Amino acid sequence: MPQPRFARFAIALPLYRVFEYALAEGDKALPGTRYRLPFGNRSCTGILLDSDRASEFEPSKIKPVEQRLDDEAVIDAHMLELARWIAEYYLQPLGEVLFLCLPGYLRGARTQASTRVKRWKLGPAASDDPESLLRRSPRQLEIVQALAAEPRGLTALDFKVINPDWHAPVARLEQKNLIRFEWSEPESAPLPSPILPELSHEQRQILERIEPQLETFGAHLLDGITGSGKTEVYLRLIRNRLDAGRQVIYLVPEIGLTSQLIERIGERFGEAYAISHSGLSDLQRYRAWERFRRGEAGIMLGTRSSLFAQSSRLGLIVIDEEHDHSYRQEDGVRYHARDVAIKRAQMLNIPVLLGSATPSLESLNNLGRDHYHRYRLDARPTAFAPPPLELVDISKSRLDSGCAAATLERIGQHLERRGQVLIYLNRRGYAPIVLCHECGWQAHCFNCDARLTLHQSVSSLICHHCGFNRGLPEACPECGQVEIRHYGIGTEQLEQGLGQRFPEVPVLRIDRDVIASREALKQRLQTLAGGEPCILVGTQMIAKGHDYPAISLAVVLDADQALFSASYRASERLAQTLFQVAGRSGRGDREGEALVQTRFPQHPLMQALRRKTYRDIAAGLLQERQSYGFPPFARAVMFRADAVELEQAMRLLEKIRDELAAAREYSRLSCIGPLPALMTRRIGRYRAQLCLLAVDFRVLRSVLNDAMPAIETLAGGGRASWSVDVDAYDL
Ligand SMILES: [Zn+2]
Ligand SMILES: [Zn+2]
Repeated sequence: MPQPRFARFAIALPLYRVFEYALAEGDKALPGTRYRLPFGNRSCTGILLDSDRASEFEPSKIKPVEQRLDDEAVIDAHMLELARWIAEYYLQPLGEVLFLCLPGYLRGARTQASTRVKRWKLGPAASDDPESLLRRSPRQLEIVQALAAEPRGLTALDFKVINPDWHAPVARLEQKNLIRFEWSEPESAPLPSPILPELSHEQRQILERIEPQLETFGAHLLDGITGSGKTEVYLRLIRNRLDAGRQVIYLVPEIGLTSQLIERIGERFGEAYAISHSGLSDLQRYRAWERFRRGEAGIMLGTRSSLFAQSSRLGLIVIDEEHDHSYRQEDGVRYHARDVAIKRAQMLNIPVLLGSATPSLESLNNLGRDHYHRYRLDARPTAFAPPPLELVDISKSRLDSGCAAATLERIGQHLERRGQVLIYLNRRGYAPIVLCHECGWQAHCFNCDARLTLHQSVSSLICHHCGFNRGLPEACPECGQVEIRHYGIGTEQLEQGLGQRFPEVPVLRIDRDVIASREALKQRLQTLAGGEPCILVGTQMIAKGHDYPAISLAVVLDADQALFSASYRASERLAQTLFQVAGRSGRGDREGEALVQTRFPQHPLMQALRRKTYRDIAAGLLQERQSYGFPPFARAVMFRADAVELEQAMRLLEKIRDELAAAREYSRLSCIGPLPALMTRRIGRYRAQLCLLAVDFRVLRSVLNDAMPAIETLAGGGRASWSVDVDAYDL
């Protein structure tokens, strides 16, 4: 076969085109390998896409590659195909998509780290009677005895369990030739055979229905009320796939609070899982990716980007809490992990399992399509059903630390009966509004159209959008008035207020400010798991995915914002949050209650939340979306631009609109904008948007196909930049 001489590469830059370089003599030109490439007057990393003997350009003008970084492909053929689909569907540059599919560790020029491990065995001088030989060295004896009991040998990890200070005794034993090591490829971990919990009738029926369908593509929606045992269904199906020699990707929205899940997976699957999330270092995440890729770990457990773990025998993708919006990536490459997972499963002809107590309207709407199936879990295996939502009218009451008197009374009752109380408040910090009564000055961010939030623990005013922070001024910067006041309440103040009100129980706050320290989080979770009375205060992190059976009261402090939000998704999100928060309550052996404070108890949505199930509310919301022509009944594509001046951003979007307007089917869709974005100024940039809506996705596609080639070449001019968001979440 003639050797390829030229190859095309995708580069990790927001550029839509691919680049051609000349290969070194004898290069096999494997698609999916990384190369160091000259780019302008610097170097960058690129991924080889395909190769040719001839180039369409003048050969002498094509630069040679600098260096090949991999001997084997880091992106396999399937992932390359999936990346091409993502790039095309989401209109994102292929290079950026490909590098998104790789662990951060491999995005630069780092070579693949070795995964070989040292494995020690008994050495040539090993004695038949180590007890007498090592009488005076109990630490060495311990290690020799452990090795004698394990003919396969032991690794550093095993030694660490025997003795955290294993280095010195092992080195001594090596000197004496009593033990020696060899390099070995790590092996796939054996699966334990734990005693399995008894299945409910519903769970068993669902398994019987899904199991025969595991060899083909299908999207299976497990629609089960909170606490109904969805996880047990996942775990059984995962085991089924592992036993069939397949691997499984298991996505969860958040890993901070899922230590319970990790423990459960450990009990069930031993070491046969890898875990990846943003709390780990690049190297740790790369190791997890590599263990899964090599098949040592049967399960990849992780957040959104774990979807891109590679496997030659993937057999199932599980997406827990499929409604959660953390599955959408909102910056860089914009994509929805649930939708990409469904595509990936379809390409591989494997099933995808979506689970939620509050399924997204998208998934509910998809149920009418081929290959979509729904399974309902309507009962909790424990004593009590999820509590109904009870409204607390706060329109006429005075609040104390954000709580009405009736709420505080109820909290007191539950603590007295030795229950735990969960209080949800989706606002970090001490107070969201800081102002001067004299002149009306308000603390605003210098970079954003946003208020600064008072964080008393660090005596600062902080912007939650850009991180800008300033000290608390001693006097009003405008008029010099000394008394500056704050209004509203955040989790920090709530924690403090409740601590004063209920000094006899611990108040545990869990939000992003606190869990920066994993130790602090761990301690709090241990207290919760202990089951003693306490109050858990937190933001959306505490609303999902955990199971503390002693929680008997769940309270939502401020639900009203969503009633008047500009987002068409606000009602769906509110319903999901409230049912999820309420669902944390009453999972053990005492009946739960759930309170929602509102100034608008007569609002139709509040009334619906009080009286109806999530399924009925979702059905109503879907009808509403259909009548307004909003997603999922229409498809939305949003162009966004940002610049140093609003004018520049608007002008760039006008150019984009002009290109779109020239497309053949433009008149069949609606185009809204360009308009300044809701928060016009953010992190020092002005932002504007242009939205396309069409009931028929093919129309949208056709317009974009016509216009994108011209749009892709549009540079901002000045310092403006644009991005595109397919299936945009908020309009
Ligand atoms: Zn003032
Ligand atoms: Zn800011």
